[in-house]
Amino acid sequence: MRHAAALVLLASLVVAAPAHAEDRTLLAREDAKPLEGRTIVIDPGHQLGNHNFPAQINQPVPAGGFTKPCNTTGTATRGGFPEATFAWRVSLRLKAKLERLGAAVVLTRQVNSQKRWGPCVDRRGRAGNKIPADLKISVHGDGSYAARARGFHVIAPTDRKPWTHDIYKPSRRLALLARASLLKKDLPAANYIAGGDGLDFRSDLATLNLSNVPTVMVELGNMKNAADARLMTTAKGRARYAAALARAVRQFLR
Ligand SMILES: [Zn+2]
Repeated sequence: MRHAAALVLLASLVVAAPAHAEDRTLLAREDAKPLEGRTIVIDPGHQLGNHNFPAQINQPVPAGGFTKPCNTTGTATRGGFPEATFAWRVSLRLKAKLERLGAAVVLTRQVNSQKRWGPCVDRRGRAGNKIPADLKISVHGDGSYAARARGFHVIAPTDRKPWTHDIYKPSRRLALLARASLLKKDLPAANYIAGGDGLDFRSDLATLNLSNVPTVMVELGNMKNAADARLMTTAKGRARYAAALARAVRQFLR
């Protein structure tokens, strides 16, 4: 029996060993699309037109054992650059990056328009469930008026049976990877919220509570802070956020 087992082991080693040049070319080609066959949902924060539809966005919707307003207007920089537009542009950059890596990407909204509202947070929460997606990232910017408050924080769901019990562990892993990637891009962790480590766990967000796939919400910066606003209002700054998030996705799905 021992000899037989050793032979099987030897045979599998022979099969696993890389052989010809053409095989290596094939491997390289496969490597260029590491996210082939993966589906990722990106939720680009609030719709730009939410503030024009107060009745619609204030209607209560399921949020995971309680209700919440359908959506909010989101924040803006002191100069008036809206969170909705920031989230939209980062999301489009992230989508393009992930698609180049072979992923299929689904957005929770298709336009960034003053004439549109929603979708509500319950739909954002469930957006990856039916597909089912490999993961979902919800992109936001924060709006704190506290002095010198800046930096990103990543929010993962707490363990809430039955809502998030199935996803809280992988979501935490995704959150840790997102934080590490943002730090690696020299983006500072928030100094005003989430205990200063850039990582928060919340039980009150429908976008996280209603997801059956691993999910995080990223508050990429404080839009009221001048240094953060400089990053958030420029294409170069947004490219950094998108590159960091794409890296986290790749590592999570490795
Ligand atoms: Zn937001």
